[in-house]
Amino acid sequence: MLREEVRQDLLKCDDDRAAGLADRVRDVEDESLATLIVDLDLADTDRDLEELQDVEAALARVREGTYGRCMRCGEPVPFERLNAYPTAKRCRTCQVLQEKTFASKAVPTL
Ligand SMILES: [Zn+2]
Repeated sequence: MLREEVRQDLLKCDDDRAAGLADRVRDVEDESLATLIVDLDLADTDRDLEELQDVEAALARVREGTYGRCMRCGEPVPFERLNAYPTAKRCRTCQVLQEKTFASKAVPTL
């Protein structure tokens, strides 16, 4: 089952944050990755596919050792944010910037 695979992958990782996340994955009551994955088991809409891709991307980052780091600035993503959004790719600051960029029709910033 996907949830267990995610948990095993996270447990293999040395990162304390990933280990903490593994504990959360085990707790199906939790509104984080566990809920996300339970939802994925129940439906296969495009939105869920996107979420699945987010999960897979997060796992790829765990394997690469970049999990928990902001893709944009490279700074560690705060633990609270990872707890709330286990698949977060960016720190809050960069996420806000990203959303602003999208909101303004993604004008290239070169
Ligand atoms: Zn950032």
